Amino acid sequence: MLDISKIRSDFPILSRQVYGKPLVYLDNAATTQKPKCVVEKIEEMYYTLNANIHRGVHFLSQQATDAHEAARVTIQKYIGAKSSNEIIFTRGTTESINLIASSFCREFCKPGDEIILSTMEHHSNIVPWQLQQEISGIKLQVVPLNDRMELIIDELEKKINSRTKLISIAHVSNALGTINDVNRIIEIAHANNVPVLIDAAQSVQHLPVNVQKMDCDFLVFSGHKAYGPTGMGVLYGKEKWLDKLPPYHGGGEMIASVSFEKTTFNVLPFKFEAGTPDFIGSSALATALDYISDLGLDNIAKYEHELLEYATNQLLTIEGLKIYGTSPQKSSVISFLVNGIHHYDMGMLLDKMGIAVRTGHHCAQPLMEAMHVDGTVRASFAFYNTKEEIDKLVAGINRVVSMF
Ligand code: PMP
Repeated sequence: MLDISKIRSDFPILSRQVYGKPLVYLDNAATTQKPKCVVEKIEEMYYTLNANIHRGVHFLSQQATDAHEAARVTIQKYIGAKSSNEIIFTRGTTESINLIASSFCREFCKPGDEIILSTMEHHSNIVPWQLQQEISGIKLQVVPLNDRMELIIDELEKKINSRTKLISIAHVSNALGTINDVNRIIEIAHANNVPVLIDAAQSVQHLPVNVQKMDCDFLVFSGHKAYGPTGMGVLYGKEKWLDKLPPYHGGGEMIASVSFEKTTFNVLPFKFEAGTPDFIGSSALATALDYISDLGLDNIAKYEHELLEYATNQLLTIEGLKIYGTSPQKSSVISFLVNGIHHYDMGMLLDKMGIAVRTGHHCAQPLMEAMHVDGTVRASFAFYNTKEEIDKLVAGINRVVSMF
């Protein structure tokens, strides 16, 4: 059982007011709020051990290096990776996918080879591949969704052929909340010798994720969606793949030796970490993941599911409200529209009541097109949200409906 009022006291921002009303923060799929321990970790590190890492002989540099590498091990354990060499620090999910798209296509793809995505992908898992389409001549195959906005796995299976080089799929959709059956997808892909990249931007903070059990080849996520700092993300890759991939960015730290005649590259994970990394952000992210682990991902998943069920039932009492994404396997995201009311108007009016939701296409325009809408209102819940806040959302929507 989670002690929600104790948890809320760890997040000072939750007790602030907006427009003179208590903040109801329901935009957690965009970014999560930060517990005190994460902010305090950042402060402590700047005050006590700020020094550039890896190359320094002096005391502070060595301490900062130790903290950065210890954070890597925390992340390794959090996602159940075999080795900390498989954890690459990036700026976020977007950079992680761009890295793989660039390095993977350069090494393994020739014109006509195919990458499989799905209709529900975030633009971050579409556009990097489109950029590679122009550079490497690859083709994209897109798996459609059924009426509940679930990925049709049979269609995915049909799209695999001898030209398929990789499947890149979201674990959880940011716009719908649908949880994809990634275990099954990976099983099918591997039976055909195709590697799989999992976009876990919306899953690592909600569900237990273990990359070895899942057997994914790559997995990516962002720190800021998992109660950690912005500008900090992770790329996990099986060592056998990362070893074969060429570097993405060039610069300091990623090299073994440099001359104008020949430059050689560093070992994993440094081969993919050019330049000074966010060596403060790494420890702050590790602190955030420790905070989540202390609450327990099973407890979090259970409580957030309760919030999802409660909110779904309450929202459906509103006449004319339609929920987009009705899979029984959902994380705590609800996308909806109310008859005739534009999502932007709904979002703006809810905001004036202190309720923060997201409106628009949620960086998933192909999905919006498939649903024949130009956007939705999205309420996304975290473990610090409460049923009382959901009641405020429902009352707020009813008020907007009465205004129209
Ligand atoms: N994929 C998914 C599923 C997401 O929800 C997001 C963020 N909304 C991203 C990728 C991109 O993450 P970031 O902007 O942190 O790089």
